[in-house]
Amino acid sequence: MAGTNYQPLDRRKVYEQIAGQLLDQIGTRRLKPGDVLPPERELTESFGVGRSSIREALRMLESQGVIAAATGGAFVVAEPANPLNSSLRLLFSLDERAGMHDLYELRRILECEAAFLAAERRADEHLEAMDTAVAEMEAALADGRGGERFIDADLRFHLAISEATGNRLVLHSMQAVRDVVRRALLTVVLIPRSPESAVVEHRAIRAAIADRDADRARQEMRAHLVRVERDVEQGVGSG
Ligand SMILES: [Zn+2]
Repeated sequence: MAGTNYQPLDRRKVYEQIAGQLLDQIGTRRLKPGDVLPPERELTESFGVGRSSIREALRMLESQGVIAAATGGAFVVAEPANPLNSSLRLLFSLDERAGMHDLYELRRILECEAAFLAAERRADEHLEAMDTAVAEMEAALADGRGGERFIDADLRFHLAISEATGNRLVLHSMQAVRDVVRRALLTVVLIPRSPESAVVEHRAIRAAIADRDADRARQEMRAHLVRVERDVEQGVGSG
């Protein structure tokens, strides 16, 4: 942060002012996502304050998701969070009449049409991303019943389809819905109930998208999501 002129500090809490000035740097993009923040020692000297104030400021920004811890005690500017995730999560917890069934219905509304559009618009790189995700699901299965790694790969497959639509809002919305589903399922032990079926179903969806058969892609996605919801209802599942 060479050449940065910080403002004199006023009577507000010192760490809040430090956090505020760092936030300004990020807001004006003098510090961009992925940039490493100056080390604690350097910040201590630049602001002329004690270490504890710097640490407190960094903790505050970290808890707000503005910066993230990196290796060696350093901090980097985080990618801007998807505000849809937190909004939808909040709505889901506040609206007592919204349940898992609503979430899965929302997934069907979004993802069946996304599969349709993906079949019409996909490029080879999207098919490659789907293949990588399916291979990762199989590797996780071979590793012993999957778990976290399987679920992440499963999610990447669905994200690859959203990306293939070329519609950024479809992608963001899908991420938000999946985030809520995942958090809702975290209350139970998250083990894929029928991971083998998920692999077979993903292949069928991928084949329809590769063939540019939009109707079939939509139909295969619907069959997959209906099966997944049934498994979630009966016990634990993902997909
Ligand atoms: Zn799936």
